[in-house]
Amino acid sequence: MNDSKVNSFMDIRSATVAKMLEAKKEGVKVVGIYCTFCPQELVIAAGAVPVGLCGTKEDPVTAAEEVLPRNLCPLIKSSYGFAATNTCPFFVFSDLVVGETTCDGKKKMFEIMQELKPVHVMQLPHMSREGAALDLWVDEVRRLKSRLEEEFGVEITDEKIREAMDLVNKEKSLQKEISDFNRVSPPLLSGMDLLTVIWSSGFGFDKMEVIEMLAGLKDTLSSHKSLHGKPPGPRILLTGCPVGIGSEKVIRVTEELGASVVAMENCTGYKTLGLMSDTTLDDPIVALAKKYIQIPCSCMSPNRYRMNLISGMIDDFSVHGVIDLTWQACHTYNVESYEVGRLVKQKNLPYLHLETDYSSSDLESLKVRIQSMLEMIDGNESSGYRPGVRCC
Ligand code: SF4
Ligand code: SF4
Repeated sequence: MNDSKVNSFMDIRSATVAKMLEAKKEGVKVVGIYCTFCPQELVIAAGAVPVGLCGTKEDPVTAAEEVLPRNLCPLIKSSYGFAATNTCPFFVFSDLVVGETTCDGKKKMFEIMQELKPVHVMQLPHMSREGAALDLWVDEVRRLKSRLEEEFGVEITDEKIREAMDLVNKEKSLQKEISDFNRVSPPLLSGMDLLTVIWSSGFGFDKMEVIEMLAGLKDTLSSHKSLHGKPPGPRILLTGCPVGIGSEKVIRVTEELGASVVAMENCTGYKTLGLMSDTTLDDPIVALAKKYIQIPCSCMSPNRYRMNLISGMIDDFSVHGVIDLTWQACHTYNVESYEVGRLVKQKNLPYLHLETDYSSSDLESLKVRIQSMLEMIDGNESSGYRPGVRCC
């Protein structure tokens, strides 16, 4: 879809940099976050602006390797590299950085990052269960609330948390509705469009503005049956590690080869869009803890909700094949790929596991591997794909 509504999302980051420059002069506080586990509602309730800091570009990786091991996931090296080289304006603006003990590489990186900025690390239990794991996580969410109150000299009331929960719930449900437009064939949004919209939304200075943009895009999509003039290619589900603008090579190559990435299960896609805070619970901190502990990240063990999510998405988005992307040295997603592959094969669909980094050095081999998967889809009757056939 080449629509100005999608393109406008690409401007969010630069607009936020300009607004933050002014807002910082007025004393507005900024909190940098690296992961979907951070309860951004508390940051908003503290009157601060949450902003994503996850590195998605290759540029600062070499600088990061002066401190971090080379055989570390590129997302961690990129994130640390941007911070260490002062080349990410959002890191520079951040008054506080919030991290979580998700995977080993990230949690150890946060220890080193404390030399650059105040970093608050939330201890994340690695199972999403009621009982001791949830109790620990509730305490951690309370500890973040206290840290924000102390750091910024504010009181975070239950009412403010509930208002923030409403905002974030609204944003997530609009993102989900927009993603769900791709259940039809042909899909209304390309994978690159989807990525642009969902990833860029995380950089908004004002949540209400982002919500209005998402609502506008939803209205535009509602009035379109199909924006593709050509027969749709195979429908691909992307799962695995998070992707952002700058690390989108697998989506780009897949679509250049004629397929459509109709849905993404990862953190920059669908993974958290169905998780809402329950605003009716007496204690909003418990409500936040219950929401975030369900995130099906591969650092959770077991991680059954991810398999259920992938299975449901394969059916709901009428997928013809699944690409599972693992960033090099991401052990948890790499190991989980065994289970993902088995699930996809049980559904008689082609499955491709790719392990790569942020560089473009393997583009040619990625093309060859993705191309041969698409050829398998062409020849796989049970995938349901009929070249050249349009169903609406
Ligand atoms: S994949 Fe896991 S660690 Fe990475 S951003 Fe998502 S929730 Fe956080
Ligand atoms: S991609 Fe894997 S190794 Fe990298 S930060 Fe996320 S969970 Fe950790």
